[in-house]
Amino acid sequence: MKRISDCGKAGNRRELRKMKKWQRIAALAGLLAVVAAASGCQMKNYEKIELPGTSQEGKAGEDAAGGEASRDTEEADGTGTGMGGGNAAGAENPMSDGQQPEAGRSAVKAELTKETAPDLEARDETVYVNATDLNVRTAPSSSASIAAKLNRGASLKRTGYSQSWSRVIYQDKECYVASQYLTVTRPEEPQTAAASTDSAASAQAGEVGLNPDWKYAGYSKIHSGKAALYRAEGANRKGKVVCVNAGHGTKGGSSVKTQCHPDGTPKVTGGTTAAGATTAAAISSGMTFADGTPEAQVTLALAKVLKDKLLARGFDVLMIRETDDMQLDNVARTVLANNMANCHIALHYDSTSSDKGAFYMSVPNVASYRSMEPVASHWQEHHALGDHLIAGLKGVGVKIFSNGKMEMDLTQTSYSTVPSVDIELGDKASDHSAASLDKLGNGLADGVEMFFGAS
Ligand SMILES: [Zn+2]
Repeated sequence: MKRISDCGKAGNRRELRKMKKWQRIAALAGLLAVVAAASGCQMKNYEKIELPGTSQEGKAGEDAAGGEASRDTEEADGTGTGMGGGNAAGAENPMSDGQQPEAGRSAVKAELTKETAPDLEARDETVYVNATDLNVRTAPSSSASIAAKLNRGASLKRTGYSQSWSRVIYQDKECYVASQYLTVTRPEEPQTAAASTDSAASAQAGEVGLNPDWKYAGYSKIHSGKAALYRAEGANRKGKVVCVNAGHGTKGGSSVKTQCHPDGTPKVTGGTTAAGATTAAAISSGMTFADGTPEAQVTLALAKVLKDKLLARGFDVLMIRETDDMQLDNVARTVLANNMANCHIALHYDSTSSDKGAFYMSVPNVASYRSMEPVASHWQEHHALGDHLIAGLKGVGVKIFSNGKMEMDLTQTSYSTVPSVDIELGDKASDHSAASLDKLGNGLADGVEMFFGAS
């Protein structure tokens, strides 16, 4: 576990470009609740804008008639329901009736310079986003720049209200969102593990980044990378997403520390990080095989083999990485799997040199650990997944170490809210030829089928 993995620059985008039709990328999966707020919202109140004294609702209508507004319709509510009639103005301004069809783009720009501040009733309340990809804008206009996009369930503090626009505090700044997409009661589909199944089931194929609103996302230190979601399209579609996590492969990850447990308690077993530690490498670089091949290179090759086999069997696949350097630490990988997948399989080889065979890292039988959430609620399903994977490997003739498991307190296990295992397919002395990886891929895919068949 010492060597820095090599670092190609193939880039996820290039990989995605190579996809077949059924694997097509949707430019962004639309799952990021927050797109970087490059253009910030206003620190100051809106009062400084001059008030020409014309009908504010009318102005808003003109703005919404502009070319950009039509995009907002879809973005504000990706479901597209209730948006019939083609009146883009409705997306962010429910008051608009689109009576200014002649208001072209240039007119919109001209109006912007003397846009009126809407009369907002003062509010001091928490509101929730009840739409997908809702635009958070720098000013109360559908032409104003977008500071962020928020997904259903995101909460905001509302300080001002009109029927068309609400003033909200987003990242300590005043921003504006269309009032019709805010509710004072939390909508169903909160941004928690409960929503993960929905995301897993409905997200479009393509790149998926870490949503900072997801539970435990704040514990991640390295998360600029993007996983890739693939959807199976055959008649055998299972409707299950398997997160395939090629172990290691994050440049610089071993010099950054993350918290071992979400509750800050120390590790109960010793491994790469000693027992008693409260922080560990955000992601280690992995071992090197006896023949000099970095572990990260082999886990990546195996991940690609497994991806193809799972897709062929009708499983959707969330690939944590498809390049040598993916900037996602163990917490980020785990939280992505929690929210986007139905199970999480991290592929590894152990650092021994005895050709000992395959096993999975089981949940330590330590009362404090098994009673800590989210371990307490999920450790049995981790074991069920691990046992099925080992059975699958055994079934195709893969050598198994001991009883196929070894207790280990891992960051992955400590943050997992879906069935999740770190599986060690062998060690430094193991054969990692293409034939061997193919066999391992078959065994793992068999195990996944058995797991979902049994669960
Ligand atoms: Zn490893």
